[in-house]
Amino acid sequence: MRRQLAYKTVWYGSILIVLDRGEPTASKCSKCNERNPSSKPSNPRFTCPYCGHDVSRRENSVRSIYQAARRQLTTSVAPGTEETLNALRDGDQPPAGNGSGPPPLTRTPLP
Ligand SMILES: [Zn+2]
Repeated sequence: MRRQLAYKTVWYGSILIVLDRGEPTASKCSKCNERNPSSKPSNPRFTCPYCGHDVSRRENSVRSIYQAARRQLTTSVAPGTEETLNALRDGDQPPAGNGSGPPPLTRTPLP
């Protein structure tokens, strides 16, 4: 999966951000960033004991993942990694329709 995301990232000229496996996205409050280690995965709601933020567990996780990715992107891109190389290939274009990838993207101007 990660390998596929890596080369498709190059095709589309975007950036692949890989979070650390230990990133506590499910147990961290997306509002105040405090951890709630007693938060049970079986509970569909995430309730923060510090700020009272109450939201669906899934939404809290999505927001935490987004915030962690933004932090990682703004603080540093790991030097020498594949992701760094992807980030530096801004000028690369997706391959032409030769069967090895999707057709090049075209942008349609708004009316
Ligand atoms: Zn909180």
